[in-house]
Amino acid sequence: MALCLVCGREMAQRWQARDHARGQNGPEYGVLWCRTCGYGRVAGEFAPEDVAGFYGQSYYTHSAPGAEQEAAHGWLNRLRMHLAWRADHGLDLAADEVQATDAHPRLCDVGCGNGKAMGMFHAAGYEAVGIEPDPEARAIASRYGRVYEGTAEWLPEEVEQRQFEVVLLSHVLEHCIDPIAALKNVRSLLSPEGTAIVEVPNNAALALEMFGPAWFFADIPRHLHFFTENSLREVMGQAGLRVTETFYTGYTRQFSQSWLAAQRQVATNLGVQPAPHGEGAQWRLLARTALASPERKYDSIRVHAVAAEG
Ligand SMILES: [Zn+2]
Repeated sequence: MALCLVCGREMAQRWQARDHARGQNGPEYGVLWCRTCGYGRVAGEFAPEDVAGFYGQSYYTHSAPGAEQEAAHGWLNRLRMHLAWRADHGLDLAADEVQATDAHPRLCDVGCGNGKAMGMFHAAGYEAVGIEPDPEARAIASRYGRVYEGTAEWLPEEVEQRQFEVVLLSHVLEHCIDPIAALKNVRSLLSPEGTAIVEVPNNAALALEMFGPAWFFADIPRHLHFFTENSLREVMGQAGLRVTETFYTGYTRQFSQSWLAAQRQVATNLGVQPAPHGEGAQWRLLARTALASPERKYDSIRVHAVAAEG
C-alpha cells in the first residue's frame, strides 16, 4: 500500500508501463495515482544511481519538439498547426514576467540543461548561475554564466551560500527522487524578495487521458512524479513556498509533426498500437481542447511562488 505524498490517502495503480527509451523489452514500472489531489508517482523506491541509469546520452541537452520545420509537411498539417496557434494563449517563460527589485538581479537555474533560460535572463541583465548534473550540458550552458555540478536535491556548495532574486526549476521537479527536498532547497536560495518559478508537465491535460503512458510528456520512469495545478500547489506549500501566480503553457507544439513522430515512437516502443497516435488523434485532440479550460488544454503549468511566512 502506498500513500499519497500530498494528502496521505491511499493511491491506486493507474498504469503499468515500460520504459519506452529502452525499447520493446524495457523494464516495466507501475504508476500510482491519487484521484483526490491529482498526484501520481512511479511505484517503488529509487536510489540516485538507479535514477542516473534512466538517462541516456544527450538527454540533458534535448528539448521538447517545437513548431519548427513544419512547412515541409502537407497542407492539412499546416492547417492544424495554424488552428492550434490561433487557439494558443499560453505564455512561454520570459525574463520580464518577474519584476526584479535589485539593480543587479541574479538568477539561479536549477537543472539548467543547455542554458536556454540562462541566456534569456542574461540578456535581460541578470547574472545567471546554473546547476546541472550533465557535463556536456554544463559546457554549453556556461556561455551565459557559471554552471556548477549538482541537482535540485544536492546543491553545490558554491551556490548554497548565495541568494537569488529568481530561482528557476523548469521541467525538473518531476525528475527528483524527493520533490519536497528539492523545493525546500529552492526556497533556501531565494533572496528576501525573491521569486521561485517552477514549471512541470500538466498531468490534468486531456492529452494524457487520450494517450496514457505514450503521452510524450509522461516519460516514465524519467518522470517519477506527476502533478496537476492542485498537487503542485500542495507540495510547494509543504516546502514553505506560497504560489502567487499560475500560467498554463505549451499548446501548439502538441500538434507538430515532430511531437507526433516522437509520440508514435514511444507508442511503438511501449508495444501499443501506433494508429491511435496518428494525425486523426491530433485532430480529435484539437477539437476537444481548442475551447477547453487551460487545465485540460496545455501540456505544462508554471507557477511563481514566494517564501511563505515562518
Ligand atoms: Zn492525494
